[in-house]
Amino acid sequence: MTITQLKNKFLENLGDKYPKEENLSFFNLLAEHFLQLNRLQIALEPNKKLNDTEVSEFEGALEKLRVFEPIQYIIGETEFFSLSFKVTPGVLIPRPETEELVQWILDEVSLKQQQDLHILDIGTGSGCIPISLKKHLPKAQISAIDISEEALKVANLNTEKNKVSVHLVHQDILSTQKLSRQFDVIVSNPPYVRELEKAEMQQNVLQYEPETALYVKDENPLLFYNKITKLAQEGLSKNGLLFFEINQYLGEETKTMVEEHDFRAELRKDMFGNFRMLKAQKR
Ligand code: GLN
Repeated sequence: MTITQLKNKFLENLGDKYPKEENLSFFNLLAEHFLQLNRLQIALEPNKKLNDTEVSEFEGALEKLRVFEPIQYIIGETEFFSLSFKVTPGVLIPRPETEELVQWILDEVSLKQQQDLHILDIGTGSGCIPISLKKHLPKAQISAIDISEEALKVANLNTEKNKVSVHLVHQDILSTQKLSRQFDVIVSNPPYVRELEKAEMQQNVLQYEPETALYVKDENPLLFYNKITKLAQEGLSKNGLLFFEINQYLGEETKTMVEEHDFRAELRKDMFGNFRMLKAQKR
């Protein structure tokens, strides 16, 4: 089978499960992954012959896409902050909104002395936040915790993949009484999706991404923010900064809660125009 024949068959079989452009981008990502061919190379060699193994890899991926498995889990990799990260169904797939949070942190701390800068990421998942920070702040000391052993395994592989060192710790933040030391920056993208918001979520998220990374009870949606803010009162150094990725519908509530703990807080919108980030500093 030639690559053009495979492409036509693939697009036809995926039909209208996804928008057309998305089907095409899936094909290109898979070609890059299984065949190491980019779009230009495919265009230049439309009659390139594929062997049976290559064809069956595409067929396997196609079956998974038809039942809405995320392409990032199929390939086992994704890009975040221009770096490559391994992902498994045990970790949340890094989102572009989180890249904006990382950029905000870098903008705020790049003027500070890096040498003694201590940064903590709470609920690190794939490790995308601390690893991206470490790449841009090579002299900073960066720690990250997660309740999930599987997530820590993936995060550890990602530190190796990106050749940085991050101190990874297995820890449940909800049962933590006190942080291990004071930090200059504490960041977290904790679970914040309420059960009531599931109705507006896509199948690929609902069926495949880890529940522990995503959901909170409708009655107590700020559970993690509350706990982390309390720990940050003692756990942040003088002039230290707290950064959160937040639920877009709970921006004001989150800001008010943080202010009640004696912080000054600022909300920021993401590229989609939703209040998605918060920065806070002790009064
Ligand atoms: N932004 C993610 C989503 O919409 C949720 C991330 C989280 O709960 N921390 O699926």
